Amino acid sequence: MEEIVWFKDLKAGDISVAGGKGANLGEMFSINLPVPNGFAISAQAYKRFIDYNHASKKIFSILKNLDVENNDLLQLKANEVQKLILELKVPEDLSEKIIQSYEYIDKNKELFDKLANKNLDIFRAGRDLPLVAVRSSATAEDLPEASFAGQQATFLNVKGKQQVLDAVKKCWASLFTARAIYYRIKNNFPHEKVLISVIIQKQIQSQKSGVIFTVNPLNNNKDEIMIEACYGLGEMIVSGSIHPDQYVLSKSFLKVISKSLNRQEWMLKTDVNLKETVKRKVPQDLMYKQILSDFEIRQLGEFAKKIEKHYDKPQDIEYAIENAQIYIVQSRPITTLKKESKDTIEGSGEKILEGLAASPGVAFGKVKIVKDPSELTKVEKGDVLVAVMTTPDYVPAMKRAVAIVTDEGGATAHAAIVSREMGIPCVVGTEEATKTLTDHEVITVDGTAGVVYKGELKIKHEEKHYKDAKTNIKVKTLVDMPEFAEKSAQTGADGVGLVRLEIMIANSGTHPRKYIEEGKQEEYTNLIYNGVKEIAAAFKGKSVWVRTSDLRTDEYRSLKGGDEEPKEDNPMLGCHGIRRSLRDTEILKCEFEAFRRLHEEGLSNVGVMIPFVIRVDEIRKAKDIMREVGLEPVNDIEFGVMIETPASVCIIEDICKEKISFISFGTNDLTQLTLGIDRNNEAIAGLFDEMHPAILKQIKDVINVCKTYNIESSICGQAGSRTEMAQFLAKAGIDSISVNPDAVNKIKHFVSEAEHGV
Ligand code: PEP
Ligand code: MG
Repeated sequence: MEEIVWFKDLKAGDISVAGGKGANLGEMFSINLPVPNGFAISAQAYKRFIDYNHASKKIFSILKNLDVENNDLLQLKANEVQKLILELKVPEDLSEKIIQSYEYIDKNKELFDKLANKNLDIFRAGRDLPLVAVRSSATAEDLPEASFAGQQATFLNVKGKQQVLDAVKKCWASLFTARAIYYRIKNNFPHEKVLISVIIQKQIQSQKSGVIFTVNPLNNNKDEIMIEACYGLGEMIVSGSIHPDQYVLSKSFLKVISKSLNRQEWMLKTDVNLKETVKRKVPQDLMYKQILSDFEIRQLGEFAKKIEKHYDKPQDIEYAIENAQIYIVQSRPITTLKKESKDTIEGSGEKILEGLAASPGVAFGKVKIVKDPSELTKVEKGDVLVAVMTTPDYVPAMKRAVAIVTDEGGATAHAAIVSREMGIPCVVGTEEATKTLTDHEVITVDGTAGVVYKGELKIKHEEKHYKDAKTNIKVKTLVDMPEFAEKSAQTGADGVGLVRLEIMIANSGTHPRKYIEEGKQEEYTNLIYNGVKEIAAAFKGKSVWVRTSDLRTDEYRSLKGGDEEPKEDNPMLGCHGIRRSLRDTEILKCEFEAFRRLHEEGLSNVGVMIPFVIRVDEIRKAKDIMREVGLEPVNDIEFGVMIETPASVCIIEDICKEKISFISFGTNDLTQLTLGIDRNNEAIAGLFDEMHPAILKQIKDVINVCKTYNIESSICGQAGSRTEMAQFLAKAGIDSISVNPDAVNKIKHFVSEAEHGV
């Protein structure tokens, strides 16, 4: 079996030799597309490397009987295997072949063959070594690409013989990342059957780059091709951070039908010495120019037609241009673009109320004021529901409404949460909507700005397209209502960072204590079990973090059996969160029992977190109660702590020393408690700002401490949906961000930009 196979000699079917990536590149090469030249170090070469060192036994004995659910152990073993592979010796003839091929990567195969048996040194004199990309390429005929779980290493801008060999070894070792091991064991793929190929490809320094869609994505017209172009690296287009030039051409004659030229001020370039992507100003003389020449547009059009014809499916093609030479970098079937509607008010109107922007969007309709649940039938399809505040009883009417306006509440009030999950505009905390407005008058609600206008205003409907940005930081969503879980999952969110049990409990209408007093523990357990099950099933395979109940006494009081709730001056600072659960451990036990049952049924993606922690002791006690239902925190189930009190920030080191899986910032409470601003007090709502330096400092400090203790950090407060906060968090190195369902793609886009240093 060949150990070095040039692209020229590879075809789509050669997955077992060169993995999926290598086989694809070979296929494109075979139809004479200008793919940057390169070769695959075959899977068989990897196998010989392992056999040569007699490493197989050692590797599999490290992994034997490994309990992959024990995260610490899994990580330890994965590191051990990787270290072992990195220390192995590459057979001399193989390393020589790799290096020779590397040195001649920018020459053609014929020349290489001609020189293969000669003394190459005389030809090398004075030549600069080429820059290459070194990528892993999954291979294993009957195993899906997923068995590598996206963890394969890639190294860009590699230069130098030793550097290339090191990168190759690192790619080989990446076959044994914790995630890949976990995935294979969970899916019963034997480790031995999985091999890896490494692709070495000439690195293009893009002066211009972009994407070609062989079907115009703006109107889905199959007879049109759309080309997008930018200066520098194409990431700027992929992440959606600039408006690229767009050229639409007819497929049949490759005639340009329309051009949209945009000014590009910044571009991304690779700094070869720093091995980093750097942001550079686009030279003034290029800034206003059409980026691609008409000749380049036509050439790209031709490639696009050829590729689509070859694969017989609409394609999404990435290209790069270096020194006037076009290169085709990648081609794959078109994936749907993520759309996000961005409605705005056209022109101006008469403002009649202002409040808090609780759920984005714009809609108009007839006002229906609901004073108590008996009036809910008033609300017809297309009306605007106006109330002092909504409660779970209001939900059926809320579903008929096009928008919601309330007198009271903040960004996490019932009306706000429910509207966001439903995807309708909502303005809360207007203080006087129920008094100022009258039934049947028509209003326009701008939930993005938090303003209510008189009459029906013209709405400008815009759709922003975000390409499915890939981010290292997970962008998760928030789900409180099981019935909307499916819809939220369709956003492509990477999991759920917070499920509040409060809405499920409120929906049941009964105080949890009442269930216990009446001996109906099973009923309460079931309530939680059923609700969480629907969410966990919709997000199967992605983590879903459920918080133990955190109702405030005023919220409990409105439930059946809630009359004995103490009247607190400020329930926000009262008996809620983990301090309350630890007083009433039977309720907590039922919640844990529900999670245990879900795990037992295979929904092991359910994790738990405890709210409003101020002492380490609370974590220990909560864990003990969890053990009573037969779950070992962290080992059996992800166990996290919310960081939402300044106290928890101050003792973060001690919290990390307790064994926990993750922390999650509750910025709603953290801001309330740090700034001394009651979240529910509309009168000072304008001062409530999560971007206050005091909050940012706490967040940054906590993330840093978590990093040293290897604890995942996350955010589930509302602030995660704010662009500026997401950018700050991405730069601070957070591991995941949870956002409103409507903001998933927007935040992915900004996180991706921040990750690329934009
Ligand atoms: C928070 O405080 O930020 C949080 C997520 O919890 P809640 O809004 O439910 O208090
Ligand atoms: Mg909170």
